[in-house]
Amino acid sequence: MLQMKLCGDLVLREKCEPITEITPDVLDILTEMVGMMRDQNGVGLAAPQVGQLKRFLVMMDPDTETVFKMINPKIITRSSDTCTMEEGCLSVLGPDDLPVYANVTRPASVDVEWTDENGRSLAAHMSGLPARIVQHETDHLDGILFIDYLSPVRREMLMRKVRKHK
Ligand SMILES: [Zn+2]
Repeated sequence: MLQMKLCGDLVLREKCEPITEITPDVLDILTEMVGMMRDQNGVGLAAPQVGQLKRFLVMMDPDTETVFKMINPKIITRSSDTCTMEEGCLSVLGPDDLPVYANVTRPASVDVEWTDENGRSLAAHMSGLPARIVQHETDHLDGILFIDYLSPVRREMLMRKVRKHK
C-alpha cells in the first residue's frame, strides 16, 4: 500500500533515478498509482508522490480518459508559445483536504518520449491539458513543484492555505 507524500516531505524535492529494468514491482506500483489517481479525481501522479525516487509517472487525458503509464519520460521540445492554466497537485492540499489551485504559465505544447509498461518506446506531440499534465508530472521527477513557478507573494498566499491543512 503506497502512501501519498505531501508538500513539506523532502522526498518531493529529490531528483529521481532512471528505470533500467521494468520489474514486476514497478508494474505493480504503476497500477496502484493509477488507482490512487482515480480515487482522488486526479489527472496525474508521479513516483516521488508515492515515495518512489524513480523516473515514472501515470497520467490521464481528461478528454479521452486515456491513461498513460510513462517510464523514463522525457520532454524533447517545448513550444515557444505559452499558456496560463490553473494547476493543482495531489501533494499540495489545503484545509479541506483538497488540492489548492493557482495559475501557472508554461509552454503550450511539447514533444514527449517515454517507455510504456511493455517496454515499447513511444513518442507524442501534446497540447492543451495533456501538455500541461505531462509537464507538471515530469517536473516532479526533478523535484520541482508547480508552486515553484509562482511569484513569492502568490506562493506565500497559497502556502498559508497548505499550512492550515497540517
Ligand atoms: Zn503534482
